[in-house]
Amino acid sequence: MVYDYIIVGAGMGGLSAGLNLAFNDKSVLIFEKNSLPGGLVTTFKRGRFEFDASLYDLMDYGNEENAGSLQKLFKKYDLEVETEPIPYNVRIKSIDDKFEEVIKGEIDDWVLRLEELYRGSMSTFRALLPLLKEVHEALVALRKNKDNIEKDFPNFVKYLDKNAYDALVDLNLPTYTIHVLGYLWIEIGSPLNKLSFIDFAECLYKYIFKRPVALKNKNVDFALKLAQRFEELGGTIYYRSNVVEIRDHNDLKEVVLSDGAVYLAKDIICNVSERFALKDLIKEDLPLAWQKENARTISMNGLVVYLGLNKSYQDLKLYNYRYYQFQNLNSVKNIKSMRVLNHHTIEAVVPNIVNETASPKNTTILVLKTLYYDDAWKGITKENYYQTKQELADKLISEFEEAFHVDIKEYIEEMEVASPITFAKATNAINGSMFGPMRLGLDNSIHRIISYPDEVIPHIYFVGASSIFGSGVDNAIYSGYYITEELLEEERRKS
Ligand SMILES: Cc1cc2nc3c(=O)[nH]c(=O)nc-3n(C[C@H](O)[C@H](O)[C@H](O)COP(=O)(O)OP(=O)(O)OC[C@H]3O[C@@H](n4cnc5c(N)ncnc54)[C@H](O)[C@@H]3O)c2cc1C
Repeated sequence: MVYDYIIVGAGMGGLSAGLNLAFNDKSVLIFEKNSLPGGLVTTFKRGRFEFDASLYDLMDYGNEENAGSLQKLFKKYDLEVETEPIPYNVRIKSIDDKFEEVIKGEIDDWVLRLEELYRGSMSTFRALLPLLKEVHEALVALRKNKDNIEKDFPNFVKYLDKNAYDALVDLNLPTYTIHVLGYLWIEIGSPLNKLSFIDFAECLYKYIFKRPVALKNKNVDFALKLAQRFEELGGTIYYRSNVVEIRDHNDLKEVVLSDGAVYLAKDIICNVSERFALKDLIKEDLPLAWQKENARTISMNGLVVYLGLNKSYQDLKLYNYRYYQFQNLNSVKNIKSMRVLNHHTIEAVVPNIVNETASPKNTTILVLKTLYYDDAWKGITKENYYQTKQELADKLISEFEEAFHVDIKEYIEEMEVASPITFAKATNAINGSMFGPMRLGLDNSIHRIISYPDEVIPHIYFVGASSIFGSGVDNAIYSGYYITEELLEEERRKS
């Protein structure tokens, strides 16, 4: 049988692409090397705890009155997902700046607090809000190939070439307010002076206007739900099916599995990173594709410590959903500090704050994460791997205790540590990177949307974190929809 599409990988991007294609009556086969769908969006069990590996904030879902793109998509596929709004409840600390604040309440409370801290924040921040909306609407229009972008969205065009830092300075935001607003981006490693303002604005737009939600169920249930709907719509998933080669076969594409089985399709959708596909799956010489890929910066990798604690979050005094500690609030300086294994940047999440049933009664899940820029893990060998991983995990726990004045160690009942090697093994992510190619410099969403029609590998398309909209579950899902919609549209135009 010749499939219309074969998809490599059942991560969020692959499942989303599969859903849209199957919904449009295409024959679709997904190969997934693991035995469950979801990729990074998965769950694992240790003792009486079920840990979600990655998804704690789902962006662009919105609520009943103000649906985000994901909610609209799920409605179209008749998919019901139970969610819980996430309150603004973030504790941020910066060592060099001697800064410690809790962002909580509604957006207006936050703005008032920023005004108290840095005069001039309120008026300039309020003036920023219509610009965020304009950027969002312009991006939607651009995706629909609208022509009169310049006329309809003049401010979008004005800030198109600016980096986030310069744009916010231009908009007169006080310097420290700029640094505080940038905290989300420090976490995924993009210095504000290299991040396009448009990408920054779109993220802030989603954060403010389509408030992030948490899933009521576990990561794996969400992934299984998408996979089940895909199969109900006529799609097929083969698990434990590791793709090792994609090659040409007359006018078709051949996909080869590790057991030697060969399958045929007209087009291939890759939910693996472009670099991995070019390096390991496609054996042809593709200089143009390599040229483009080599110009991209692969995102940071990191260490994640999943802790099951045998006390309630109230007893542990873990009152915040998210915790961040930075060396410096200035993203450029902070990222410099993250080039070594022993640095002080920590991100933590306490899922029980939003969802009481995240773990058994009177217990708490705490997930600690620290990220590394460049080649910080280069010196790790087979001999020192386990010891280094454990030492870094212990240090991360101690630092968290010290930073936020809490006692954690004596209440640890379960502990799992994931390193860049763990993530690389799980999803084939290059270098164990957590967020695909970063949106930096010219490699930003705008450039990716505009240059998409010039993709350089015929009949192979990329979805997921490696694709147009970058990392994050919302972007991975949206890319799966967007790329397949473009393909379907092209087909409609031709027929
Ligand atoms: C610790 C952590 C926390 C995070 N928190 C959040 C959060 O709160 N909110 C958010 O929006 N995002 C979060 N993210 C990011 C988010 O999880 C990812 O951006 C998103 O899940 C990536 O999806 P993807 O479609 O690119 O696929 P991936 O998850 O990378 O999946 C790729 C799939 O392809 C399969 N595959 C790979 N190679 C092959 C092969 N050769 N043959 C067959 N199958 C193959 C893999 O097994 C995998 O299932 C987090 C990430 C991490 C690591």
